[in-house]
Amino acid sequence: MTEIRLASLQGGAIALGSDTIAAFRQTLRGSLSLPQEPGYDEARTIWNAMIDRHPGAVVRCRGAADIARAVRFAREHGLILAVRGGGHNIAGNAVCEDGLLIDLSQMRSVRIDPVVRSARVEPGATLADFDREAQAFGLATPLGINSTTGVAGLTLGGGFGWLSRKFGLACDNLISADVITAEGELLQASATENSDLFWALHGGGGNFGVVSSFEFRQHSVGPMVLSGLIVHPFARAKEILAGYREVAARAPDELTVWVVLRQAPPLPFLPPEVHGKEVLVFAVCYTDDEASGNRALEPLRALGQPIADVIGMQPYAAWQSAFDPLLTPGAYNYWKSHNFVELSDDLFGILTSYAARLPTPECEVFIGQVGGAINRVAVDATAYPHRGANFVMNVHTRWRDRADERRSIDWARQLFTETAPHATGGVYVNFMPEDETERVPSAYGANYSRLAALKVKYDPGNLFRLNQNVQPAAERPAA
Ligand code: FAD
Repeated sequence: MTEIRLASLQGGAIALGSDTIAAFRQTLRGSLSLPQEPGYDEARTIWNAMIDRHPGAVVRCRGAADIARAVRFAREHGLILAVRGGGHNIAGNAVCEDGLLIDLSQMRSVRIDPVVRSARVEPGATLADFDREAQAFGLATPLGINSTTGVAGLTLGGGFGWLSRKFGLACDNLISADVITAEGELLQASATENSDLFWALHGGGGNFGVVSSFEFRQHSVGPMVLSGLIVHPFARAKEILAGYREVAARAPDELTVWVVLRQAPPLPFLPPEVHGKEVLVFAVCYTDDEASGNRALEPLRALGQPIADVIGMQPYAAWQSAFDPLLTPGAYNYWKSHNFVELSDDLFGILTSYAARLPTPECEVFIGQVGGAINRVAVDATAYPHRGANFVMNVHTRWRDRADERRSIDWARQLFTETAPHATGGVYVNFMPEDETERVPSAYGANYSRLAALKVKYDPGNLFRLNQNVQPAAERPAA
């Protein structure tokens, strides 16, 4: 090996000699993978196949010390730096081209304290890692709906799923975090230590440092929960959606109902003639006992004449992975997202007209129900600002053949534009695709300027820039 060339923060490339690389390699408990070396392709491959980047070098971390050394190395040499947790983010900022990649995916330990009801989670853990460990003790923290997602990126952007209406966002359940700063120092952040940094970690993404350990609050959940699907024929979708609006408005915090408009997969409980046809699906989870859950579900079950109702008691951890087969890694994906306070008939008209012409069989529109405990937190109490939204729409296009790319993306963008007048203007930072950089202020909303000021304090050189980036206040162009 002679020298390697890595992308510089200033633009262009920096050449590092073999001695420098060898010395850095020796300091690590984990490994350093250069192109073609073992682990390199695994580390650079993420959920969205649209992202195919080649970092100059990958540090496969085994602990906080590796993260600190990698950050210091990047800083000392002025290198472009990316941070990968679970590798699920649609925008693909977890991987850089030619720069240094900090890969956390091998740091996956989860330690539950069943007495205090807390969990210590390393930043490469997936939701499945966390849920399976916690459920052995009848505990859970609100996370997302797909078990291969990373806890780290999900939490740092907010994080909502089946338990959030009852127990808040994933980030609302943070007790503390260990953070490697842009200086390469280890800080503890909590309500009492570095509380401004702690505030920023609740939705400010990867802008403020690399979290090497999360400490979460846990709640009694399951292990069996009332959950599952109700599938309706598409022909009556608008009427059923109007009924859903009423159900959602009156739902207790324990009940969460998401809507999915898509083509029916060949699931065994659906008649074969429905497979591949558009359907409206309610995905449901109730987080208390079965009897009160069945009572809470009565208004939803009274709507229309479903093709199937497969709601029953099942392990919470199984429900947390129920959507995994539809969301496997390796496909091409593009998303567009809006937040809504209310769902109007006009909006339903637009959604159903687009859902009637899905670009590929794997495309879907989902409406996630939020609200409840999420919205009982003040907008300025955490960096996550969307405390007034009751629904989050994600237009999820997905295809396998590059020939489907253009029309899938165009379809998503048109649907996004037509539905915009009904939306709040805000957007969930974790649902933003790569091309939405101009929307970043909408993702942080009223909290943007405070985040920009904290960026000056914690990362004035914007070392952590491969994310939905908050620029240090002084660097921002004058309005
Ligand atoms: P990565 O791509 O590894 O990381 C995303 C970014 O987070 C990185 O670019 C980096 O900037 C930052 N980052 C990661 N780790 C660290 C760290 N340790 N320290 C500092 N910064 C870090 N979200 C929900 O809220 N609810 C859902 O139900 C939900 N469902 C999803 C389903 C699928 C199939 C997918 C693909 C995503 C879903 N999401 C959901 C969105 C998800 O929250 C984001 O994609 C999130 O960023 C994933 O985190 P990750 O660690 O896997 O991602």
